[in-house]
Parts: sequence; structure tokens; C-alpha cells
Amino acid sequence: MRIVCVGGGPAGLYSAVLARLASAGDEVVVVERNPPDATHSWGVTFGEDFLDDLHANDPESARAIHDAATVWSEQVVRVADRPPVHLGGKYGYSLGRARLLEILTERCHRLGVRFEFGREVTSTDEVDADLVVAADGVGSRLRTAHAEHHGTTLTPGRNRYIWLGTSRISPVFTFAFEPTPVGWVWFYAYPSTASASTCIVECSPRTWSGLGLDAMDPAAGLQVLEGIFDRALDGHRLLAPPDGLGPAPWRNFREVRNATWRRGNTVLVGDAAHTTHFGIGSGTVLAVQDSIALAEAVRSCAGDLATALPAYDARRRPALDPVQAMARRSMHWFENVDSEIATGADPVRFAYSLLGRRGDQAPWQFRLHQATQIDGVRRARRTVTSARRSLRGLRRGPSRSG
Ligand SMILES: Cc1cc2nc3c(=O)[nH]c(=O)nc-3n(C[C@H](O)[C@H](O)[C@H](O)COP(=O)(O)OP(=O)(O)OC[C@H]3O[C@@H](n4cnc5c(N)ncnc54)[C@H](O)[C@@H]3O)c2cc1C
Repeated sequence: MRIVCVGGGPAGLYSAVLARLASAGDEVVVVERNPPDATHSWGVTFGEDFLDDLHANDPESARAIHDAATVWSEQVVRVADRPPVHLGGKYGYSLGRARLLEILTERCHRLGVRFEFGREVTSTDEVDADLVVAADGVGSRLRTAHAEHHGTTLTPGRNRYIWLGTSRISPVFTFAFEPTPVGWVWFYAYPSTASASTCIVECSPRTWSGLGLDAMDPAAGLQVLEGIFDRALDGHRLLAPPDGLGPAPWRNFREVRNATWRRGNTVLVGDAAHTTHFGIGSGTVLAVQDSIALAEAVRSCAGDLATALPAYDARRRPALDPVQAMARRSMHWFENVDSEIATGADPVRFAYSLLGRRGDQAPWQFRLHQATQIDGVRRARRTVTSARRSLRGLRRGPSRSG
């Protein structure tokens, strides 16, 4: 079988890895429009479930990703000059997107996947393959060319965001909210490389244009943001991605949904199939899970694509509905930050509202959240969390670093 993955992001690369692992006789090609090593983004976060999934499907790349990732062991919420509020029991991993893609690309090379970099595919007619994996991201040309068939809906989020880095290194995942005369601006920051953290800045469209960010060149915009976040960044710089292309533009999140993820011998995976607001930090994880679901469907149908592709669509697509609903709730929470802060003058309550933005917090958890603000309780929760993390690691087996 000849399999072509269009797009060298996490979905395309992991689909290629699994295709070669399933059948070394298959010819597998990844076609990527950019040159090798080009990515315009910072880091991504993920949890234990992601590492479990990777480990179950390809222990070798799982170990490399685990060993390259940084653990953040706490989340804090900073509201202007008020003392930080702690969100207990939370931890996760983060890794620069460039490093993640490098690990998966190296794994592909070792497995004999062929690459065609610098080639942009505009239509499936240009692809000679038994199976075309459309992993070409949120703006997927392969999907857009047949939007009616796929039943695509694109729903823009209201807020504006920009994906930046910062030289402030902190092992803590930080949400920082700062007031301006035209509304609140906030960032989500987490470690991503040895010398930088990811820093996603977001605000309402009213604040964005009120600050003049809509009309400013990106470098001037960074200076304005550095001024606003001077306290939260301890005077550190905001950084454009290290690819020399300057800051990515301000964007609106776009929610992608499709009524079907297949057309003939083409299937959609990752952001081409669905997107979830970055406020729940799970698009990469879901993209890789799509690749796993596709590989399972092909395996369980013994390579009969006429059965496997409908099976993939029927099983995996509905699984995304609750996740997208949760991500929408989270996105709407961030779209109402100005009124959330105005009504909840108490930062502890505001942070609890942030914690429950996906609609998955039980009412009794507020007491625990209040208790978490006490040093001793927080230390105890951290000990439990760290033991849980070690246990999950032990279940997966040793990593190179032990
Ligand atoms: C601000 C922000 C923060 C995020 N944070 C997280 C996080 O913390 N955790 C997490 O799990 N997810 C996060 N995500 C989501 C994550 O980045 C995406 O969901 C993930 O990258 C999707 O992977 P993908 O392979 O489907 O698409 P992409 O990563 O977009 O890859 C698509 C690839 O296809 C290539 N391509 C596109 N069109 C063509 C074409 N026509 N021909 C050839 N090649 C083409 C592109 O160059 C690209 O390399 C975040 C997203 C944003 C915007």
C-alpha cells in the first residue's frame, strides 16, 4: 500500500510512524509545504494520558518525548497586584513544538518514511496514493476544496490572541491578568525550552483595538505588551519565535467541525478535522489520538480501506463532540473575562471560576481550592501529585534517563 500524509505536523508525522510500524512493506510519504525544521510556534502542554497513548503505540518516540519534556508542577493565577492564587493538584508536561516535530521526524526517518519538503499540495488529484491522510492543519486545503462534502463549519472565536515566548523561565504554569484603561489583557505561560517559556497573550477585540494593537507593527506591539506585563514577567522580554520570521500575527481562534472526515481514499486527521480552543491545551494530543484511531481502524479491517475509513469516521468523530463542547465552554469563559473579573473582585473566587471554566468542577471543590491557598495543604497536595506522577511513569516503564 502507498500512504501519503499531507502535512508534517504532529498528525501527519505520527500517522506516518504508525503506518510504517504496522506494515514495513508499505510505502509511506510525508509531504510538507515548509522546509525541514521550520515551525512558527512555541511550546505545547500535555498530560499523562498523552504519554500513555504514545507509549502504548510507539515506546521509542514516547521515551524521547518524555525525556525532552519539562514538568510543570503547579498552576498559579495572578490578578494585577494581588497575591498569586494557587490551583492545586495540577501538573503537566510541556515541550517546544520544534523539538516535538524533530523527534517525530527523526523517528520517521529511522522507520524508512520518505519526505517531500517544500511541496504544497492543493488537491488530492496531485497525490498518487492508496490512502491520503489529510493532516494539513486548521486551514486544510484538501478539506476546503471539498467543504460541502465534508459539511465543514468554521466558527471564529471573539477574542484575539498571539503566540509568543518569554525569556522568563518558570517551572510554574501561570495565568496572569492585567488591567488596562480599555479592558483586561492576560497571558498563559509555561516552560517550553531551556531558555524560554511559551506565552500566549489574549484579550477582547475591544481591548485589542483600544490599545492600538490592530494598527501597530508587531515589534511595537511586543513593547506595548511588555509594558502591560512588566510586573507579571518580572521585567523579562517577550519573544517572537526563533525562526527569524518575526512574531506570528494576532489571530482569532477558529473552531473547525466536519460532518464527515472521509472522502474516497482521503481521511482528515488533527486540526484539519477538528479544532479545540487552546485554553484547554489539547489539539496536539487529539491530533495524535486521531492517528492512533486511524491506524487501529486499518489494522482491525486487515487493510481493507473501504471498511476501515468509514469505521475510523464513525468511531473517532463522535468522540470529539464532548471535547469540543468543553473547549467551547472554556473559550466562552475567556471571552467574558472582563465581566468575570468585575463581578468576582475576590481573586480566589475568580481563579476558582477559571478552574471550573470547562464545567467539570463539583461545588464541594471550592473548599479544597480555598484550603489550597494554605502553604501546608499545598505542599501535601504536591506530594500526592508527585507520587501519582511517579506511579504513572513506573507503569509505563523506564525512560532513558531513569
Ligand atoms: C496558541 C496555541 C496554543 C496551543 N497549545 C497547545 C497545547 O498546549 N497543547 C496541545 O496539545 N495543543 C496545543 N495547540 C494546538 C496544536 O498546536 C494543534 O492542534 C496541532 O498542531 C495540530 O496538529 P496537526 O498536525 O493537525 O496540524 P499542524 O500542527 O498545523 O500541522 C499541519 C502541517 O501541515 C503543513 N501544511 C499545511 N498545508 C499544507 C499543504 N497544502 N501541503 C503540504 N503541507 C501543508 C503545515 O505547514 C504544517 O506543518 C495550540 C494551538 C494554538 C494556536
